[in-house]
Amino acid sequence: MIKFENVSKRYSDGTIAVDSLDFEIRQGEFFVLIGPSGCGKTTTLKMINRLIALSDGTISINGKKISEYDIHELRWNIGYVLQQIALFPHMTIGENIAIVPEMKKWRREKIQKRIYELLDMVGLDHEIYANRKPIELSGGQQQRVGVVRALAADPEIILMDEPFSALDPISRVKLQDDLLDLKKNLKKTTVFVTHDIQEALKLADRICIMNEGKIVQIGTPDELVTDPVNDFVKEFVGGKYGKRTNDIKLEDLLHTANVAEIGEESSVIVPSSTPVQEILEILYEHEQLAIEENGNLIGYIDRRSVMQYVSAKLQKGV
Ligand code: ADP
Repeated sequence: MIKFENVSKRYSDGTIAVDSLDFEIRQGEFFVLIGPSGCGKTTTLKMINRLIALSDGTISINGKKISEYDIHELRWNIGYVLQQIALFPHMTIGENIAIVPEMKKWRREKIQKRIYELLDMVGLDHEIYANRKPIELSGGQQQRVGVVRALAADPEIILMDEPFSALDPISRVKLQDDLLDLKKNLKKTTVFVTHDIQEALKLADRICIMNEGKIVQIGTPDELVTDPVNDFVKEFVGGKYGKRTNDIKLEDLLHTANVAEIGEESSVIVPSSTPVQEILEILYEHEQLAIEENGNLIGYIDRRSVMQYVSAKLQKGV
């Protein structure tokens, strides 16, 4: 569906951002590009809708080279979601979503129906939100609108460049869940850039791990975890706290003393049903979080004691 053949990009200062990429993204596939900062993910993504020109090789969509498409036709048929979505502040949410359908000259009633349908699809009641201005929405809600706006004109392909990385961990998990639902229902070909391996493992049909402008491995989440081609992939997929966290239970980490004082230290509250892996992800960014069960705070978990717990386990070799 989207085919890269020997694609390279050399910027004018001589930087080779991507080097001889050869791969194919399949119809309806959720394809994640991941790798360390500067490895060429964004360059790869932006070449697909010609926001960045190739230096060498060809990219084709449905068998036709992207250079042969009319640029407007190409862009309108590829939804694009950025890290910091740029909703137009003076326009309502409905008007923001309507931009591409209007350019495509859809009928007014069809556009209206589409706006309502899309807002409802991501849990934003259209009666409430269609006429609001972006500033009246939270960051997470604005990002939801950014996602559905990219879907508005029913494009065949969606490109997403770290769409959730500016969100707090809880909104991020919610939007990932939304996206999983959308993915099941819509079956769009999606190319998604992230540096977060947990996000990649959760969302992807296939993951492409890049390093220094080259592809290191392409595979399903399972294949990367069980059959990494080298130490780089192994480290990338299993690194950070690593797989040793798989058998940790919430109770092992939970402090239950002084529950009444928890609220002051913990800016983040998560339900007790949250998987431990997700809790650890949140702790990369927050020192401490509180755990809630049936509406009550039952304890807290902090980064320091998690590290102590994991290192004690490592020392014992379990
Ligand atoms: P990633 O998205 O993986 O962080 P990028 O695709 O943004 O990586 O960048 C790949 C490489 O190209 C990096 O070394 C980056 O510094 C370089 N680069 C990106 N944009 C430009 C540019 N406009 N001019 C020169 N070098 C660039």
